Amino acid sequence: MNVPLLDLAPTLDEQRQEIIDAVTRIIDSTRYIQGPEVDELEKEIADYCGVDYGVGVSSGTDALLVSLMALDVGAGDLVLTTPYSFFATMGVILRLGAMPVFADIDPVSFNIDPDRVAEILAADTEKRIKAVIPVHLYGQAADMARILEITAAHEVPVIEDAAQAIGTEYPFAGAAGVTWMKAGSMGLCGCFSFFPSKNLGAVGDGGMVVCRDASFAHNLKLLRNHGGEPKYYHSMVGGNFRLDPIQAGVLRIKLKHLEKWHRQRRENAERYNQLFKDQAARSELPVTTPVSVYREGSGAGADLKNFHIYNQYVIRADRRDRLREWLQKKNVATEIYYPLGLHQQECLTRRFTPPPMPNTEKAASESLALPIYPGLTPQMQEYVVKSVADFYR
Ligand SMILES: *Cc1c(COP(=O)(O)O)cnc(C)c1O
Repeated sequence: MNVPLLDLAPTLDEQRQEIIDAVTRIIDSTRYIQGPEVDELEKEIADYCGVDYGVGVSSGTDALLVSLMALDVGAGDLVLTTPYSFFATMGVILRLGAMPVFADIDPVSFNIDPDRVAEILAADTEKRIKAVIPVHLYGQAADMARILEITAAHEVPVIEDAAQAIGTEYPFAGAAGVTWMKAGSMGLCGCFSFFPSKNLGAVGDGGMVVCRDASFAHNLKLLRNHGGEPKYYHSMVGGNFRLDPIQAGVLRIKLKHLEKWHRQRRENAERYNQLFKDQAARSELPVTTPVSVYREGSGAGADLKNFHIYNQYVIRADRRDRLREWLQKKNVATEIYYPLGLHQQECLTRRFTPPPMPNTEKAASESLALPIYPGLTPQMQEYVVKSVADFYR
């Protein structure tokens, strides 16, 4: 059996003709920059997230970059973030001439640890930290209630890197009970990526920033288009970070199916969890399955509220690299997100030595992403888990 890490064909096949018709319509319209498709997608994503504004941009990376630019982050500034993320989270900070400061992750969720955030902000007496970027890694929310409480006390804005987490929800406990809030809707703004491997993927690059603040949204819109207002009069320097209307048109079709695909990924995750449990009952397996931290209800039934969207299903495994080679031979594709902490990247370590991040370094040596995409069959999952079990036998 051959199990790819990701196969986009099953979901593409569902809307193939609708997508081709939309692309044809947009080409025939001769509106190739901005225009109604981008405007409509912005409204639809803002609605989906429960916020007022969406600003389409060229990628998830550029969503983060324009957000930091709108906060005027630059040389001499610091930005606090997690050391366990895709490089873009840190790359945008460095590109603006600012420097990252890292708060190690929580070992269960793989997300930034609020206790470390509190310590670092308390120690920043010169107030050089201009923003905090939590990442909702693999599609599970960081502990936003605690992060927002801490950052509010220090008056530092929060930019959510929700690139892997469109549709992820987080339970805010209030006087009236629990309110589930969407990733990207809790901080000053949230950044999404429409890279094809994300849960809502375009047929190329794309991204979006969502926010509640009208003047922040206005600035984002200026910055994504060279900052001119009126056109050709520039009081600030932006760039070309526009979202392609063809991508917007495709995304509008796919957005209608997003909840179904999240559900299929959750079902696949529950099936993996059960299969690993069954194997472990037979003989001990040195594998830890991912924990969905925020859930309500029980079992895999309709009452279960589990708002991990499983952009990735990441296990921790003993002798991870050997296991990965073994699985490759069995035609099971896997990936390591990520083999190094950001604090270990040479572009940083060449310049200075960041402090060690033990939880991140442990995760980087143990984590392994298994195929989880919608369209993965139960037979494929059984084969994956059996292949893992055979390695340790
Ligand atoms: C994918 C991703 C990005 C960057 O998105 P692009 O659209 O590829 O530029 C940023 N942060 C995280 C956590 C990501 O997973």
